[in-house]
Amino acid sequence: MTANPLYKTQELKLYNSISGQKETFTPITEGNIGMYVCGPTVYSNVHLGNCRTFISFDLVFRYLKHLGYKVRYVRNITDAGHLENDADEGEDKVAKKARLEQLEPMEIVQKYTLDFHNVMSKFNAIPPSIEPTATGHIVEQIEIIKTIIDNGFAYESNGSVYFDVQKFNETNHYGKLSGRNLEDMIANTRELSAQSDKKNPQDFALWKKAEPQHIMRWPAPWSDGFPGWHLECTVMSTKYLGERFDIHGGGMDLKFPHHECEIAQGEAACGHTPVNYWMHANMLTLNGKKMSKSTGNTISPDELFSGNNSILNKAFEPSIVRFFMMQAHYRSILDFSNDALEASEKGYYRLMDAIQSLENLPTSNDSKGFDAAAWRKECYQAMNDDFNSPILIAKLFDAVKFINTVKENKASISESDLDILKQTIHDFVFDVLGLVNSNETSSDASDKLSGTIELLINLRAEARANKDFATSDKIRDKLLEIGIQLKDGREGTTFSLN
Ligand code: AMP
Ligand code: ZN
Repeated sequence: MTANPLYKTQELKLYNSISGQKETFTPITEGNIGMYVCGPTVYSNVHLGNCRTFISFDLVFRYLKHLGYKVRYVRNITDAGHLENDADEGEDKVAKKARLEQLEPMEIVQKYTLDFHNVMSKFNAIPPSIEPTATGHIVEQIEIIKTIIDNGFAYESNGSVYFDVQKFNETNHYGKLSGRNLEDMIANTRELSAQSDKKNPQDFALWKKAEPQHIMRWPAPWSDGFPGWHLECTVMSTKYLGERFDIHGGGMDLKFPHHECEIAQGEAACGHTPVNYWMHANMLTLNGKKMSKSTGNTISPDELFSGNNSILNKAFEPSIVRFFMMQAHYRSILDFSNDALEASEKGYYRLMDAIQSLENLPTSNDSKGFDAAAWRKECYQAMNDDFNSPILIAKLFDAVKFINTVKENKASISESDLDILKQTIHDFVFDVLGLVNSNETSSDASDKLSGTIELLINLRAEARANKDFATSDKIRDKLLEIGIQLKDGREGTTFSLN
């Protein structure tokens, strides 16, 4: 760690969902942060909505690290216990997919975990410090259930164990995160069905006895069964971050019941609330409706990168999509559309062009029309104000405008201000926003293009050697149609892009 980390001079405020206010952030242990974010349930490919939440927290992770904090970022993989409809009844999402795809549940888990990692790396998201799985922590889950039962807040019923919400609410407040109270919840819920094992409809499962057909099961004192979804996060967060830790994040849709139940479990097990700051990222919508697997209202990252979806006019690079997301504050709803992405693409290239021209920007003895130090400060102010990336981007475009004016000789910049400008752009565009330099990606793309054309040139030569002139002419003509001209010479065939 540096001798004088940035966090000592920056006052970071973040919106704490539990107080409904922006609060000055103070970690439990100076210089160190424990952050837990609910990870994906790996039963299908992630859609762009899921990605938005994880990219929002990648921004948070990056900025905290940039400030010089040592961050332990835990994001789990839910590979068991998450039932259909997010409820206590029904089939396990992973097991159901295994049945449909005729694979082992762990093959499903592996397949979609790999997809998730692959997509996250395309979006240039930094992997978490620890990525625990629910099935890897069954023993710890059984232990915490025993503690909650011993403390009087859970009961066994017919081989399953349920959290006793009414009992808990006598001494604690069930609903404090989502702003609800138990009386209203009771008034709004239907009677329990006759076959239910629960005392009250609000109670939720900590352990479920497995039905004979349920293949993902583990032995426990109450039955052969499986853990409740809410409990997994309580166990995996506190195991690696302690019984009280700094930041817990997730999508807005997880606030209730998932996070509410985590608070209840933590308080019931340890006697105090588990989390100091709750952060919730808002939803990505499509045609004004939440992007959601269950309704089929989704677009996948692959469709976006290939342009292979009827709502898209073209393909978009991951960095453009990331930039599009960063242009909205993480607590605002963001609506996806082809037009919005095209607008982001223009902005992104304007930014990258300006960054490119920084290398050859002429300097003068003094700067006119721009105060680089004050501007750098404003960039920090934007991020210190609850990670306000759209304001940060507006500041970056102030710099773009200035750079372009210098290029036209209508303003000037001193060498030292240019250094500040370069450093700040590097810090915020690449480190904090996590964008990738398009000049680097385009050189990568042009390598691939050249390789592909060389391959076609070789195939054409082979066709000619075999006197298959129909094929060799077709390759030449089709390439010409898309603007690539082949030229045959003594040294072989070369190409040029028209
Ligand atoms: P799941 O795999 O369903 O457990 O969801 C993984 C994460 O994606 C959770 O944090 C959800 O809140 C988040 N999520 C799901 N749909 C959306 C959406 N449309 N926009 C943003 N985040 C979402
Ligand atoms: Zn969770």
